Amino acid sequence: MYTEVAMSCLFCKIIEGIVPSTPVFQDDLGYAFADVNPQAPVHVLIVPREHIGSLSDTARKDSALLGHLLSAAAEIAKTKQLDGGYRIVVNTGQDGGQTVDHLHLHLLGGRPFTWPPG
Ligand code: AMP
Ligand code: ZN
Repeated sequence: MYTEVAMSCLFCKIIEGIVPSTPVFQDDLGYAFADVNPQAPVHVLIVPREHIGSLSDTARKDSALLGHLLSAAAEIAKTKQLDGGYRIVVNTGQDGGQTVDHLHLHLLGGRPFTWPPG
């Protein structure tokens, strides 16, 4: 059922429960869990259950899934009462600073953020 790449992928293992995580939200398409190295009081990762390497591996056919994950992030932000705002980040590829090759949205909140990012 699982491809070799999926079984060597940290976030696939987290989704499978092979690697422990602190769940925040889950449904049939996505899973959200606390970042192990939080950069803000609220730092949640939202990932598709399906193994997708990065945003650059998606196409128009994935737009419903991508929208679903973004809506999930907005729902989690409401649940976490991030009424003052928050930041969604999708690090993509080497220049984007992506370190885990399974598409993920960072939801960061609970403190102000500056712009431009580093
Ligand atoms: P990125 O650098 O955008 O690829 O983000 C990867 C994120 O995954 C980082 O913020 C890490 O802190 C986080 N991370 C790495 N390993 C784990 C883990 N086992 N559980 C939760 N978050 C993790
Ligand atoms: Zn994966």
